[in-house]
Amino acid sequence: MSVSAGLCPCCRHEETQQPSPAYTRCSCCGHRWRLPPEAVSSTGYYETLVARNDPQAPWFKRKSSDRVALLSALLEEGGARRVLEIGCAEGELGGAIKARFDVVYDGVELSRDSEVAEQSLDRVFKTPASEVKELPYGLIASFHVLEHIAEPEQELACWSRLLGENGQLLIEVPNQSGHPLLVSDHNPEHLHQFTPASLAILLSRSGFACTGLSVGHYESPVYSDSIRIVARAQLSAERQRGLLLERFRDRFDGPFIVYGIGGDFFNYLAPVAEELEIQALLDSSPSKWGQRIGSLIVGGYDPAEHGMLPILVCSIRFGANIRQHLLTLGIAEDRIIGLESIYEHA
Ligand SMILES: [Zn+2]
Repeated sequence: MSVSAGLCPCCRHEETQQPSPAYTRCSCCGHRWRLPPEAVSSTGYYETLVARNDPQAPWFKRKSSDRVALLSALLEEGGARRVLEIGCAEGELGGAIKARFDVVYDGVELSRDSEVAEQSLDRVFKTPASEVKELPYGLIASFHVLEHIAEPEQELACWSRLLGENGQLLIEVPNQSGHPLLVSDHNPEHLHQFTPASLAILLSRSGFACTGLSVGHYESPVYSDSIRIVARAQLSAERQRGLLLERFRDRFDGPFIVYGIGGDFFNYLAPVAEELEIQALLDSSPSKWGQRIGSLIVGGYDPAEHGMLPILVCSIRFGANIRQHLLTLGIAEDRIIGLESIYEHA
């Protein structure tokens, strides 16, 4: 076993192994990759192929019904109105989805199966995704495509550009060789053998936040173990902060009081407190009174001073106790808002 030169295309780790002449393996994330064989790398290889699937085969029906259920769940959850399937083959999945949902469903397909797909999808691009100009899409799906692409990082950059801000990305690829009893995948079209780790790392490095990862998904009898990842574009720190502030502002349309100055205050409110209209910091424990935080000094509740403003109960663990205490002070229930209602807000 020799160590080869070159960086892992997924995690950029330098130490790689050569377990077979064909593949290089990353000793960190377990990813295997190879250079495309000459026949596959020649320009126009995929464009010459046709009838890549047999819709009558029992395994085709099994994977199709599973994928219809999966995309239906993602559309119901995410509400996407525009779908792009990269590698849409003959368009069977898109046709089934369009029969169930009022969505625009486009596909990318290099093989001649695109001619069949055109009959059921809205548009079929017969070019690589890098040349697609339509955007943005609310859902981009790709089944068993990324392992065919020599430069997956560059490809994901194209998919990222096509995805809307809240859009979902779904990727399915074989889990390593694609079958638990096959040591390696010798299919010459497959340039990458992903592991759950290598695919997740590649997505993270490409600016996506993984929201779901599972294995064991069925493509065919020989590719019976596939990895499936659902991801969204990673929000910038500024955007995350802005969305959190919006949640506070949805609950408090003006000044408010914070009650409970403990760990939850410092962890979950203090990071955005400067941008909120906090009028007072209160706590029932006199040991905390007098503590200065920013421009405010922690004190106790005074009905004359604090009698009208809404109150944020700033504790997850002790929230119920604080709420009970505030009710015994005669504070109306509709003035009391729990921190959990900000963080759990849909
Ligand atoms: Zn790696």
